Amino acid sequence: MQQTHTKPPQALNLRNAQIYEITPFTMLDFADHIAAIAWFCGCNMRCNYCYNPQIVTSRGKISNEEFLRFLDARAGKLQGIVFSGGECTCASDFIPLAHEVKQRGFLLKVDTNGSNPQKIEEALNLGLIDYIALDFKAPRQDFELITKSSLYDKFLQTLRLLLRRNFKFEVRTTVHADFLNEAKIEQMAQILYSEGYRGVYYLQNFLPTGDNFGNLDAPLASFDPSKIHTDLKIELRNFD
Ligand code: SF4
Repeated sequence: MQQTHTKPPQALNLRNAQIYEITPFTMLDFADHIAAIAWFCGCNMRCNYCYNPQIVTSRGKISNEEFLRFLDARAGKLQGIVFSGGECTCASDFIPLAHEVKQRGFLLKVDTNGSNPQKIEEALNLGLIDYIALDFKAPRQDFELITKSSLYDKFLQTLRLLLRRNFKFEVRTTVHADFLNEAKIEQMAQILYSEGYRGVYYLQNFLPTGDNFGNLDAPLASFDPSKIHTDLKIELRNFD
């Protein structure tokens, strides 16, 4: 793994705690890489279907010092670290922690709702991110209903930033068929295509876990991916 030699962008307060927990080992969340996941607390959205309300609303439990110790112990054993959450880009220590990850030779993948294009751009300019999974929550007319936020334009800015920079990323949407039917997904695919995205569009089926902001259960509506007509390649996750 390549070491970077950039200076820390800002001092890291070792006592800060913005990470809720660490998944020490995954082969699923960073394609083709053995990785760990840092789950950041807090989020600027409240998606109906969010699987992690506990992480979104809790305070951090892992201090920066503890996270650095974890990184030191895994250097050379893991290939990558995933920053997920919650919305990791909202954390004030996002950039310095990304720097610590890269300094130890890990690849960094960032899962984001796309609401923080300035922070993403800053991290890209510092060479801190290797891959991004960008959530596309909903088309404009449904964005507020689904996310309880008015951050659609920020999402678009992030999408355009990544496309402009020709950065390696994927776009994914969680599908709860009572909120997003085939026509809406087709509209979203069309938006992505017209913006210039040519990567895979991942559709992740909502799985009822009993704990989400919208108290959602399995959708009443059916969802048939074969009804979606798009020039983008679609890949399905968790659809039977
Ligand atoms: S699903 Fe929505 S509320 Fe939950 S962490 Fe992601 S962006 Fe935040």
